[in-house]
Amino acid sequence: MTSPDRCGAVLTIDLDAIAANYRLLRDRLGGTQCGAVVKADAYGLGMAKVAPVLFGAGCKVFFVAHIDEGIELRRILDGADIHVFNGILPGTEADFAEYRLSPVLNSLGEIESWAKFLAASTMPPLPADIHIDTGMSRLGLPHGELVTLLGERRRMPSFDVAYIISHLACADQPTHPMNARQLNEFRSALAALPAARASLANSSAIFLGPDYHFDLARPGVALYGVNPTPKNINPMAQVVSLQGKILQTRVIDSPRTVGYGATHSVVKGGRIATVAMGYADGYLRSLGNSGCGFCGGVRAPVVGRISMDLITLDVSAVAEHLCRPGSLVEMIGADNPVDSVAAGGGTIGYEVLTSLGGRYHRVYRDSSV
Ligand SMILES: *Cc1c(COP(=O)(O)O)cnc(C)c1O
Repeated sequence: MTSPDRCGAVLTIDLDAIAANYRLLRDRLGGTQCGAVVKADAYGLGMAKVAPVLFGAGCKVFFVAHIDEGIELRRILDGADIHVFNGILPGTEADFAEYRLSPVLNSLGEIESWAKFLAASTMPPLPADIHIDTGMSRLGLPHGELVTLLGERRRMPSFDVAYIISHLACADQPTHPMNARQLNEFRSALAALPAARASLANSSAIFLGPDYHFDLARPGVALYGVNPTPKNINPMAQVVSLQGKILQTRVIDSPRTVGYGATHSVVKGGRIATVAMGYADGYLRSLGNSGCGFCGGVRAPVVGRISMDLITLDVSAVAEHLCRPGSLVEMIGADNPVDSVAAGGGTIGYEVLTSLGGRYHRVYRDSSV
């Protein structure tokens, strides 16, 4: 990892805020258990740092997307209950057993493979989840396969089912009719299947109310500070702050354009600061001429296109001593939360977080160690 002196930007990840966010969601859930989704390296924030903090805050059930993420998490947390959303790819059954990972079975074929594997295996039986597709058309048993399963008892899993799960398409839009539709379809499936614990809610669905909570919630993004209730004030604590480093500031002495494509013009007397991060660091190119930084609380708009390694800011309104070479500019933080950055780039907080680059100097704040 780069050093604070040499880096182009400092990424600070507040692990205390993640723990506080976990506790907030858990309180919100009342009696329902609260798990955590740590796929994609805990949404870009570093699973090896984040998962132990969540475990310490009381989280025992974790979800990842890929089996390799599950194997990595097993090495980090021996005592966690780990579930793999993407299910079993052919030939990976033994890996699930070896690393004590519960696959989320997404089709009749996967249910059959898992049953066959367990029947032939000498390893202690492992519970698996069953995913019922209620409206995403992505993973999980499509309606037809559910009907087949219910119609042919011999297909019913003979193994231990940990959770029956489904996933909402529009949980961040509380008034969207999809929510109730999916809830009803999920309830019907649960009523027809042998009794098992159930899980439906991602971050946003926790805020749809107790009908959506069932036995286990699976929040991801809200733990990391993104607003799960986009129409309302963000109830979550900010987790990420990104401070870009100024390389050079120039006073424009005659009218000029800035950056590739000459998409922005500056008048005489304007000041442009160049910051040492760019789209190769995951600062989205779509933030060209629309993002901003903050220098000592003063807004400095991104002007011109985002380059691979550089960003140009209009710092005409910023005091000179705040934009010298080496000065830090807040590109994400209290003044400029992840959700605002995402909106400026025409995307969502999830993508801003998971794009955070590998060249930043990372600082983890953790008062528990
Ligand atoms: C990613 C994911 C989650 C977590 O969603 P958030 O919106 O980040 O809370 C939950 N369930 C499934 C199936 C997922 O893929």
